[in-house]
Amino acid sequence: MDCIFCKIANGEISSATLYEDEDFRVILDLNPASKGHALILPKNHADNLYALPEEAASKVLVLAKNMALKMKKTLNCDGLNLVQNNGEIAGQTVFHFHMHLIPRYEGDNVKVGWKPGKLTDEVKEELLSILT
Ligand code: 5GP
Ligand code: ZN
Repeated sequence: MDCIFCKIANGEISSATLYEDEDFRVILDLNPASKGHALILPKNHADNLYALPEEAASKVLVLAKNMALKMKKTLNCDGLNLVQNNGEIAGQTVFHFHMHLIPRYEGDNVKVGWKPGKLTDEVKEELLSILT
């Protein structure tokens, strides 16, 4: 399979690596939204969150937390967004699971968001009946 993030995660293609262990590599994004924008890549391929094994899924948030703490301390960022896109409609462009760590700075103008809607009683009841 020709997957660029498999090649990066496993060191076949060099990258600016911030952290590596047996399961993950954390690299700087080539097109950063802000200073320090990084990506957590599992070394084993999974297309997206749906396909990610539970063990990797549980480890990835612990790693994200540790990287976030390191960024807070060393970059002195004012906040941080964790972003993880699944599917083209959700903005996924590389189909190897990855989690974005986006440090945020006062006045940075980075846009991560949506227009808030309104949860109606009808939709709430529908969702409670199908999602619980
Ligand atoms: P997505 O839109 O799939 O959630 O995010 C893909 C991210 O990967 C983008 O932010 C893009 O800049 C980054 N990216 C794509 N190709 C490469 C690459 O070859 N090296 C690095 N470091 N980042 C990449
Ligand atoms: Zn891959």
